[in-house]
Amino acid sequence: MIQLTPSHVQSIRQHGEADFPHECCGILVGIFGEDGAKQVREILPISNAREEEAKRNRFLITAEEMMRGEKLARAQGMDVIGFYHSHPDHPAKPSQFDLDHAWPIYSYIIVSVMGGQSADFTSWELDPEGEAFVSEEILEKGGE
Ligand SMILES: [Zn+2]
Repeated sequence: MIQLTPSHVQSIRQHGEADFPHECCGILVGIFGEDGAKQVREILPISNAREEEAKRNRFLITAEEMMRGEKLARAQGMDVIGFYHSHPDHPAKPSQFDLDHAWPIYSYIIVSVMGGQSADFTSWELDPEGEAFVSEEILEKGGE
């Protein structure tokens, strides 16, 4: 399970709409709970400075961006707990590319943006074998 606030959800939806028809992506910073639930505390949007084709077809976090995320997280005693990205004009389901580039433990939030309007909002994590994504429950609550 992953927990985030309504304003986090709003930020991710808005990022997806702003970058449409390109994919947006970002890093989820927060805490791995003892009960296996993750808590998002901060959203780190990644400015999409990639090539045109990559922007449209792929979700990829560079090593540099990952390091920036981990630095920011550690400075606050937190961790990188996952990532989010948008699927412009596609369902909020992970692609084969997403699966091939996923790491265990992390959450992968996907927001579908249909015709510029954010729609389905889902979260996924790898199964223990690392061979497939399983749907992860999203708990939207709290606020700052
Ligand atoms: Zn994707």
